[in-house]
Amino acid sequence: APTLTRMTPQPNPEAGAAVKAADRDHVFHSWSAQDLIDPLAVAGAQGSYFWDYDGRRYLDFSSGLVYTNIGYQHPEVVAAIQEQAARMTTFAPAFAIEARSEAARLIAERTPGDLDKIFFTNGGADAVEHAIRMARLHTGRPKVLSAYRSYHGGTQQAVNITGDPRRWASDSGTAGVVHFWAPYLYRSRFYAETEEQECARALEHLETTIAFEGPSTVAAIILETIPGTAGIMVPPPGYLAGVRELCDKYGIVFVLDEVMAGFGRTGEWFAADLFDVTPDLLTFAKGVNSGYVPLGGVAISGAIAETFGKRPYPGGLTYSGHPLACAAAVATINVMAAEGVVENAARLGASVVGPELRALAERHPSVGEVRGVGMFWALELVRNRETREPLVPYNAAGEANAPMAAFAAAAKAGGLWPFVNMNRTHVVPPCTISEAELKEGLAVLDAALSVADEHV
Ligand code: PMP
Repeated sequence: APTLTRMTPQPNPEAGAAVKAADRDHVFHSWSAQDLIDPLAVAGAQGSYFWDYDGRRYLDFSSGLVYTNIGYQHPEVVAAIQEQAARMTTFAPAFAIEARSEAARLIAERTPGDLDKIFFTNGGADAVEHAIRMARLHTGRPKVLSAYRSYHGGTQQAVNITGDPRRWASDSGTAGVVHFWAPYLYRSRFYAETEEQECARALEHLETTIAFEGPSTVAAIILETIPGTAGIMVPPPGYLAGVRELCDKYGIVFVLDEVMAGFGRTGEWFAADLFDVTPDLLTFAKGVNSGYVPLGGVAISGAIAETFGKRPYPGGLTYSGHPLACAAAVATINVMAAEGVVENAARLGASVVGPELRALAERHPSVGEVRGVGMFWALELVRNRETREPLVPYNAAGEANAPMAAFAAAAKAGGLWPFVNMNRTHVVPPCTISEAELKEGLAVLDAALSVADEHV
């Protein structure tokens, strides 16, 4: 297994230049105008840090794409992948394989309620695709209700139910997808001033949407338990329980997408546990094995599993439950349990991140709102705290924007890798991060926010 000493950054700029040249010539990058990007060449990573070929080290406050919940290169998970590779690197899905059955057992043990059957996918988007298919087949109904300000993945169906502007370019108006507004008190669509009002009015809006769509046509309501990419809007108490009630009342399948919020991110194994709700289907990926090998899946309720008891489920993937990915999941879940990773996220979120971000908001006029839980926090940056005008205009084209770019550059110059989206920075470090690392990162964030303040 790799050790810290072996992995200490050694500058090697020529190797870095070669990596960058081949990348520029041959790698087609996600969500990007290919000529306008300049990706950092990364030489290595360990724990909460990664480093470039110039030997510059960054504290990763983004956990990659919010998935390295146990940090980089955890020796036990790396060893488990190596052991599985030596034993049986791959095997087709229609067999019982130890790594696969053990991963399913460990996941089912932790998911809420009777979500006890696990369908494995290669990532989050295909988990969402399959959850929707299961809901449609289970109910025999066509429509899916999904929230604006959501992200559910980049494949065709998943991007169509996604409620962010990245949908527009690929949206051919897929039949059967209807969007609604979920709670977001800071920018309330419901003219609400309190969480209670926001909750009640959002539920009333959802029930009206169901009524006007025709309850007998709605197969599923899908929500991120806490919307992640769209801004970490923690729902008000009672909202998700209210959605659960509506789903029960109208026979609708309730899907919670925990691809980002699951596996410790919120200081619980699943964010659903924070709200004491049990969906009928729960999608996961990312944190299930910290992305060491691609893996996602759907946790399925007893009733929906029964639908496919005698009748075949018409869907599958060549690599469903890939042994390497599942071995990584088994090791990751065991590490998380043994090291108290979920508890660490809960404790440091409540005792360090929350209070310190709120203190930053006091000092920095660019911070409009702080919200989050566990290791899942967002700072919304504004030009004007009174009007809540975002620091950058709503930019559907996803073009680089100067104020947020300047903020990000200041953070990187200080050795902190921030997550930036629109007018927000998310504080989403590995759930294994130490208090000292957090404080180091928050001090750099403090300095970088002074750059954002110049645009107020
Ligand atoms: N759902 C949610 C809530 C996500 O955050 C993401 C990824 N950010 C996805 C689905 C898609 O996952 P993937 O990129 O693994 O396909």
